[in-house]
Amino acid sequence: MKAIGSAMIFGLLLCMVGVAYAGEQDSLPPVSDLALEMSCKSNMRTLATALSMYLSEFGTYPDSLPMLTDAGVAHGVPPIHLLECPACDSVYLYLTDGESFTLVCPCDSLHGSIVDGTASW
Ligand SMILES: [Zn+2]
Repeated sequence: MKAIGSAMIFGLLLCMVGVAYAGEQDSLPPVSDLALEMSCKSNMRTLATALSMYLSEFGTYPDSLPMLTDAGVAHGVPPIHLLECPACDSVYLYLTDGESFTLVCPCDSLHGSIVDGTASW
């Protein structure tokens, strides 16, 4: 009888923890602006790395960012979603003369830019 009582109390405790946990999950905020900014900067760093790999393989920067994925460079080619800032879903601004490049976040949220591998942040 004592074992059954303990089991019931344990079950009740588990239930209370579960309810508390579920309540906490509901109160979590959506993905924060900071997380989106971190993700954007990470994307730009990955793109800058892929651009430098493209340069060392082809001797020039690509004319456009999609060329990174189209070229089939074996290593460091970013998935296509990296070509967009996650905050505004717009494609990164990319300028090049073949020997240098500028990569800029297209959003109004000031996520920064990378010029020839040097980040603005
Ligand atoms: Zn951005």
